[in-house]
Order: sequence, then C-alpha cells, then structure tokens
Amino acid sequence: MLPRRKILQGLVHAGAAAFLPQSARVFAQREGLPTERLSTQRLRETVLMVRGAEANVLVLASQEGPILLDGGAAAWSPALLAHIAQFAPGQAIRALINTHWHPEQVGSNVALGERGTEIIAHDNTRLWLSTNVAQRWSGKHFSALPKAALPHTTLYDSAEKRIGEHTLRLAYLPEAHTDGDLCVYLPAANLLFAGGFLSNDTWPLIDWWTGGWSGGVLNAFAAVLPLCNAATLIVPSSGPLMTYADLQAQSDMYHSIFDKVHTAFVQSLSPEETVALQPASGYKPAWGSADLFITLAAQSLQGQLRGAVGGWLPRIP
Ligand SMILES: [Zn+2]
Repeated sequence: MLPRRKILQGLVHAGAAAFLPQSARVFAQREGLPTERLSTQRLRETVLMVRGAEANVLVLASQEGPILLDGGAAAWSPALLAHIAQFAPGQAIRALINTHWHPEQVGSNVALGERGTEIIAHDNTRLWLSTNVAQRWSGKHFSALPKAALPHTTLYDSAEKRIGEHTLRLAYLPEAHTDGDLCVYLPAANLLFAGGFLSNDTWPLIDWWTGGWSGGVLNAFAAVLPLCNAATLIVPSSGPLMTYADLQAQSDMYHSIFDKVHTAFVQSLSPEETVALQPASGYKPAWGSADLFITLAAQSLQGQLRGAVGGWLPRIP
C-alpha cells in the first residue's frame, strides 16, 4: 500500500502536460505506431483521463492500485500500461471495468488478466468475449479471449461497488450500443464514464448484431441525464470531455435524428432509402459522414423486430 501523497504525485505530474513515458515511446516506435499519441488530462484529484488508445480510458488512483475504466485497443495496451505505471509506481492494477465487449475497450484484458487483475463487466459482455463473433454488418471476425482475459466479476443489473476508497455506481444500459453496456458514475468525483453509447468526436455505431438498437440509445440518455448536473464531468467513449449541456444537446439531437429514422421504418423504407433522406443533415459536420451510423440505426430497428417475431424478417442483410 502506498502513501496517499505518493499516489497523488504522479497524478499532479500527469496534469501538467500530455506525454508518453520513454518506455511507451520506444514501444510505439518499434511497432510503427504514431508516437506522442497518448495524452492525459487530470479531471479530479485522483482521476485521470487517458486519450489516444482508440477509446477513452479513465484511471482512478487508489491505495489498492489503479482502477481502469476500459483498457484501450490491444495494439496500445503495452504503451497504455507503461503510461499508467508512471502514475502509480510499484502498484499493480487493482481492477479493470469493461463497459462493453468491443476491442477498443478490452485490449488490456489479456495482459491484466494474466496478472490477476479483477476484470468486471456485464454478463452479456462476458458472453460475447467468450465466443467467436462474426459481426454481420461489418464483416469482421473477433476471436474469443483466452479464459484468463475474461471478466470474472460480472453483473446482470446495475450495482454499486466499493473498490479501494472509491464508490462506483455501475449502471446497466440495456440494448443501447450493445446488449452489455455499462456506464460508471463516481459520486465523490461527480463524474460519469458513459461507455459505448456516447461519443464526442465521431458518429457512434449501434452494434445491432450484439444487441444494440436506436431506441436503447435514447433510453441510455434518459437513464444517465438524471445522474448528472451542471457540475458533472462526462467522459464519452471517444472524443473530448463533455458537460451536462453537451449531454442534453446530444440527447436532443439523437431524438430528432431517430424520429426521422423511425418514421422511415414505419413507412417500410429500406436502410438505403433511409440514408438517402439524410436524417443527420445539419448536425455535427466535423464528425464526418453519418451514413454508416444511419444505416446501423435503421438496421437496428429490423434487428429488434426480427427478435420480436422469432427470426423472420425479409430485409435484414
Ligand atoms: Zn463500442
């Protein structure tokens, strides 16, 4: 157990500037990855946000060892873990929470699982990670993780956990970005780590193949907005920190866009015809094309209906 002063030392340094520790820089050069990509922002006294590992990662300093919320992509895991080691010298990672099963969130599971770190996730996230996934809409294949890398502390519904000196409220957001989405609210820090349904630099993709759908995304906003207030720091799965006003504005935006997508669905328009209507036109030009986002939102309605009618629906791709 390290003295609190020592734990905080690294955090104070981390707040000064974005940097890669030497070991991470060497690794990045060796692997041909861009250097100077991981950046760190101190959000609260014992809370850091690390960006650049293909998804946002939150690090909570703790006397029992750092707690990670999501682990970045596998290619970045060695650099990320070396980066975090700078803030907590000599401490093993105490726990890792996977907000969902996607590779950008679980890329440190193998390394940390082998070291005996407690890995926490929703039951459905463990199930997806336990099997080979052929994601129908992307054509990508994802291999099951080795047993040691699977979450072994799982929950089916929302739960509060005490880890070290931190209280973490894990809220289950059913069928939103996937069917195993968790968000994490830290009451002492008044901070929300939102998980996969929330993005702040690109259109989030609804993974209907593993249980996400557009209505669930709206439900996720409805579930997290009451947790937050004007002073809450909101960490999306990708992109910069958000405010409560940003969260409210995004909720309004998705309601407006999905209203159009849902109307098109009721009119029996195909996903291609729905994209042609450009339901996201005028929103977030900096996020690039919304076509795939709209396609998946439209397909997610078919996915929901297919489940409801027992597997039969002619237009599902
Ligand atoms: Zn995701």
